[in-house]
Amino acid sequence: MSHPTDGSCIFCRIVVGELPCFKLLEDEATIAFMDINPVNSGHALAVAKGHWPTIDVIPPEVLAAVAKTAQRVAKAAMTTLEPSGVNLLQSNGVGAGQSVPHLHVHILPRFPGDEVRLNWTYKPGDKAEIEAIWKRLTAAL
Ligand code: 5GP
Ligand code: ZN
Repeated sequence: MSHPTDGSCIFCRIVVGELPCFKLLEDEATIAFMDINPVNSGHALAVAKGHWPTIDVIPPEVLAAVAKTAQRVAKAAMTTLEPSGVNLLQSNGVGAGQSVPHLHVHILPRFPGDEVRLNWTYKPGDKAEIEAIWKRLTAAL
């Protein structure tokens, strides 16, 4: 399968085997490997083989393939590492904390008392504000 590539991208270089990784699995459209800076034990990445930076530009079928790969890795982490939970995280853009502009999903096993800070407390929203945004979004769909 042919896909876009960027020779200056770390993940593209891993995909073609120019840089090493602890590979978990690979299929036609995706690859999964261990994160080199794990925030928790078992932190892994499900990565599109093609160089699409963010969710708005990746073909939906490739995104689906990345989700399938993330599921396989998450299931292996659940049975092998027996975490208390698993987060899947996918960031788009510097403002969202994305540091590698090549689409990937983090598979992040969670353990009691870990230092990962992803969750937030609920605060009821303003209904009018929610509705106004809902209108703008539905118009764009
Ligand atoms: P982002 O911040 O873009 O959501 O996540 C990028 C992830 O890629 C980070 O968790 C970072 O540790 C990981 N990473 C960056 N460079 C490499 C590398 O060369 N090899 C591997 N295996 N992971 C990397
Ligand atoms: Zn890339």
